[in-house]
Amino acid sequence: MHTVYFLLGSNLGDCTLNLKQAVEEISKHIGLLLKVSSVYKSAPWGFDSSHEFLNQVVCAETALSPEALLKNTQAIEKRMGRVKTRDTYEERLIDIDILFYDDTIVEENHLKVPHPLLAYRRFTLIPLQEIAPNLKHPVTQLTISEILENCTDPSEVTQYS
Ligand code: AMP
Repeated sequence: MHTVYFLLGSNLGDCTLNLKQAVEEISKHIGLLLKVSSVYKSAPWGFDSSHEFLNQVVCAETALSPEALLKNTQAIEKRMGRVKTRDTYEERLIDIDILFYDDTIVEENHLKVPHPLLAYRRFTLIPLQEIAPNLKHPVTQLTISEILENCTDPSEVTQYS
């Protein structure tokens, strides 16, 4: 069995419901839920959008390989649908990123684990710190709390529910 961490994000439709549905899908198709963080609200990061984001981190136990895990998370994203916005850019109701897969390092074009942007985004680190403050990054050997202390992302992240 492998321990995996996911970042869930939603900024369209009923975001609270989307996160709830994604958590249910993870428990149904990926494995036993070990920990689920609170939901956090943050301003959109890296692109211009009027919608705020809700984020949540989930830890689960799975028998799936990293490759199969990505296929499953992408299948969940697809099942949960896509919505066409005004500028014809298709935004997803839910985004699922694989943050960690045990201590495993994956460096493929289509899959990088630990997630390469993890250390730079407070909307990932804050929910992650809530459920795994002492988890060590397999590359830097820093804990999540230490990574958060070093993070210079100025964006505001607040607990939502
Ligand atoms: P995004 O826009 O964040 O949903 O990016 C999705 C793409 O990132 C997919 O095509 C994946 O192949 C790729 N990807 C690379 N590493 C990861 C990861 N750790 N978790 C999820 N997607 C990843």
